[in-house]
Amino acid sequence: MAQRLIVIGGDAAGMSAASQARRRRGSDDLEIVVFERGHFTSYSACGIPYWISGQVDGPEQLIAREPETFRTEFAMDVRMRHEVTAIDIERREVVARDLEGGGEVREHFDELMYAAGATPAQPPWARTDAGGVFGVQTLDDGAALRDWLDADPQPRRAVVIGGGYIGVEMAEALIQRGLSVTLVEASDQPMSTVDSDMAELVVDAMRGLGVTIRAGLPVTGLEQRDGRVSAVVTAEGPIPADVVVLGLGVRPNVALAEAAGLPIGPTGGIRVDRRMRVPGFPGIWAAGDCVETLHRVSGMPVHVPLGTHANKQGRVAGINIGGGYATFAGVIGTAVTKVCELEVGRTGLRERDASEAGFDFISVIAESTSRAGYYPGARPMTVKLIAERPSGRLLGAQIVGWSEAAKRIDTLAVALWNGMTVDDMTALDLGYAPPYAPVWDPVLIAARKAVDALAAVAR
Ligand SMILES: Cc1cc2nc3c(=O)[nH]c(=O)nc-3n(C[C@H](O)[C@H](O)[C@H](O)COP(=O)(O)OP(=O)(O)OC[C@H]3O[C@@H](n4cnc5c(N)ncnc54)[C@H](O)[C@@H]3O)c2cc1C
Repeated sequence: MAQRLIVIGGDAAGMSAASQARRRRGSDDLEIVVFERGHFTSYSACGIPYWISGQVDGPEQLIAREPETFRTEFAMDVRMRHEVTAIDIERREVVARDLEGGGEVREHFDELMYAAGATPAQPPWARTDAGGVFGVQTLDDGAALRDWLDADPQPRRAVVIGGGYIGVEMAEALIQRGLSVTLVEASDQPMSTVDSDMAELVVDAMRGLGVTIRAGLPVTGLEQRDGRVSAVVTAEGPIPADVVVLGLGVRPNVALAEAAGLPIGPTGGIRVDRRMRVPGFPGIWAAGDCVETLHRVSGMPVHVPLGTHANKQGRVAGINIGGGYATFAGVIGTAVTKVCELEVGRTGLRERDASEAGFDFISVIAESTSRAGYYPGARPMTVKLIAERPSGRLLGAQIVGWSEAAKRIDTLAVALWNGMTVDDMTALDLGYAPPYAPVWDPVLIAARKAVDALAAVAR
């Protein structure tokens, strides 16, 4: 008799796992039932800001595979608009509610894949019935925001609350749509995924685009008029708004897992081993934004909710469920984003992470250009490196620049992943031709500067 895999959550982690399991085990051997409470499977939330700005079409274009494709080509029983409400570990059952048809089902599982993603932070002041307040977590959120932006009266003033990368991308999207945009951030500076000296470059660029930045200013409420949001309330007075976008970060969506007694780690994510098994719970797997993982540089558990990890972790879980062997090696925190043409990349530890992890370190900032200075289109590029003292091992890197900056972080990520020292890095055989780099690539210039800084502190 076929075993049964139940998957909770039909996006990146869940469907990667289900697809890999199916590739290895036919439907005679493994029945796969997917519960997804939303309207879409395998969609790209990452594309939402570019859909809002109008650079890409949506929502269909943001969907990698429709439920019907999984049903017909992967022999999966995909139940859309079904929300799992409980997991009974003892009886190996889940309870799911049909959000449209009504009613409840109980389904048995042999293997359970928990891939319920993350929940956007929503402080009490953000819970409002006023129109014009949007999250950007799902394609439905994106569609609702687009409808509001297109409707009469057309909003003119947007306030984005939260200056993480999603808030920054949304501020860019709204500026591109011609709105006047204010970004409000409770901490001292937006873009805290990089150190403040690098974040300053991003903030300058945003101001240059016309975004008003209000940092160090916690939001305490929302005002409404005639059922529509009219202002964001702060200690320094209200900021008028016709549309408000919330980008306040996310936390792992573990409510069901926690209620079922699965182990939750210090970051709030589900604890998993390298094969994405939940320790102590045979046949239970978890992956994606709902789990915590190992940071390979600090050695600490971290919650890094990114699609790149969700896909890889789901794949690992699926290979293992399918009878193969795969492990997830952890993360080093590599991420890229952009503000119009300004690109931002980061990997590894920021200065404060390195301090918290107990490293002795130096940091350097190297200014360079994206191409040979004489070649058309050469633009400034700033590279920051953080290296352990006295070993010189790379601990972290950040890049801000106008062209070809973001993906240069991948060179640094590979160096970091492999434990290279900045001295090793100065010898890297990187490509050079005037249209692509100065004769000394910005990465090499930064590595040389770090070697000099290490030598100076050793003297
Ligand atoms: C605006 C935006 C931009 C982003 N940009 C990037 C980027 O550029 N690069 C990057 O790497 N990452 C990016 N991300 C993050 C990326 O989208 C997530 O990390 C990724 O989608 C996580 O995949 P997941 O499968 O773990 O969770 P999710 O994609 O959240 O999927 C979880 C699914 O589970 C469903 N679900 C939850 N609870 C239940 C339940 N009880 N019953 C049934 N179904 C349930 C949800 O409806 C959801 O479809 C972005 C995210 C957003 C919102």
